[in-house]
Amino acid sequence: MSNGMLWVRGPLIGRITRSVFKDLAIWMIGFGLTVGLIFPWAVHQMGVPKAYILTVPFHLYCLIAGFAVGGANVLLAHGVVRLRLRLLAERLTHITEILEKLQENREGVECKPEQCHLPEDSEDEIGATSRSFNLLVDTLDSALQTNRAVQTLTEVLVAQQSLAELAARALQEVRFWSGSSGGAILTAQEGELRLLAAHGLVEPERLARHPVVRLAYERQIEELLECPPDLPLDGVLAHFAPRAVVVLPICYQGASLGVLVVAANRAYLPEQVRRLRLFAKPLALALHNAMSFDHLERLAALDALTGCYNRRFGLERLREEYERAVRHETPLGVIIFDVDHFKSVNDTYGHLLGDRVLVRVARAARSVLRHGDVLVRYGGEEFLAVLPSANEADAAAVAERLRRAIEESPFMDEDHVIRITISAGVAAYPEAEVSSDRGLIECADLGVYTAKRAGRNRVVSHSQARACA
Ligand code: GH3
Ligand code: MG
Ligand code: MG
Repeated sequence: MSNGMLWVRGPLIGRITRSVFKDLAIWMIGFGLTVGLIFPWAVHQMGVPKAYILTVPFHLYCLIAGFAVGGANVLLAHGVVRLRLRLLAERLTHITEILEKLQENREGVECKPEQCHLPEDSEDEIGATSRSFNLLVDTLDSALQTNRAVQTLTEVLVAQQSLAELAARALQEVRFWSGSSGGAILTAQEGELRLLAAHGLVEPERLARHPVVRLAYERQIEELLECPPDLPLDGVLAHFAPRAVVVLPICYQGASLGVLVVAANRAYLPEQVRRLRLFAKPLALALHNAMSFDHLERLAALDALTGCYNRRFGLERLREEYERAVRHETPLGVIIFDVDHFKSVNDTYGHLLGDRVLVRVARAARSVLRHGDVLVRYGGEEFLAVLPSANEADAAAVAERLRRAIEESPFMDEDHVIRITISAGVAAYPEAEVSSDRGLIECADLGVYTAKRAGRNRVVSHSQARACA
């Protein structure tokens, strides 16, 4: 070997024509004729009298015999070697066509060994050539597949809108192309690893705390774990028997974004591991974009002071929840609450302290609301809470808990103890007999108005407010 090139010894005998088989025919027949020419002299050397052999007819016979042997050798070479090579050439052309189709990503084209391999039934250079060729085809096929896999994954990633959707589709593709039975994608949110998508794993949320996963995230260390076959893991880690697990950090420009975990019920092939590493790059880019978009979207939807939804996005969420409630015929409760005499808090203690009071009120509200409820800063010191599946009584109970929580925990400043109260109005679909989300807001507003008129620091639900009106 030199300069990375294979050094191959050239043929021992020089070329005569442009065809190896023509050269072979010339050499074989020439050799036969030469033997035919020499043969009578050789026989004479062995003691046979000249009169018998050094005659024109005997020379002629010997030449004809030499020619016949040479010709027979040519025919044998043709039958044994040439036809076989011709078969290989035809096979190669066919395989090349398949590979071309594969390169064009044509559907349904596969390069299975029975279609793409040459027979390896000869223990000589022809067999060695077939073996080398088959290896080359396998490598090429695998490279084309990887290329196709990365292309497909990239297309899928580009088409996704939300972060969760993106992770779910990416995991599906990654599993398919790496032969994995299960897996998960985790991303970092506010410094903590959170599960974005999972398939086939038992309690995948636990992965976020797993030391190997944490190491992959914190130090960007890749792990390829082989599980011993006698380890009884079926149904413990996954809904299948995992035999190999790959934990890959997802990094974008050197920063950790998350971790990809995949598991298979047999060992991963080197090509599959290579493919997984290649996947991590487009995945990181797509996650980075989606996370930035998600972050911006969230920023645009949130109120900067209290972290609640702002009015615009909050009303949008209310509309969605209202439509869902009507569609599924489930109740939907809303609470509007307003801080009592807030103007005097501002006037007495200053606007900045007033701001901190609003943050506290929002925090208290969050602590009494359930996961899935929506808290909106509806106006200056006025909030809206949307409670899916809550009827009027449920929503009134939540509002009362909130009222009491705020009343009972006065705001403590270094110098002052400020007592805060709220007045709340409650309405719910379908009790309120409204035809739109706006109608629900108006009903709850009526409750707030009634509560204020009745002396503040109280909850008035829509049915009570109507009775008062
Ligand atoms: P009521 O009990 O009738 O609700 O009286 P109130 O004083 O709370 O109501 P009013 O509407 O008269 O005053 C609301 C005050 O809230 C006026 C406004 O300056 C203040 N406010 C609105 N937004 C903010 C804010 O972001 N920060 C602070 N500190 N004050 C705000
Ligand atoms: Mg007020
Ligand atoms: Mg107000």
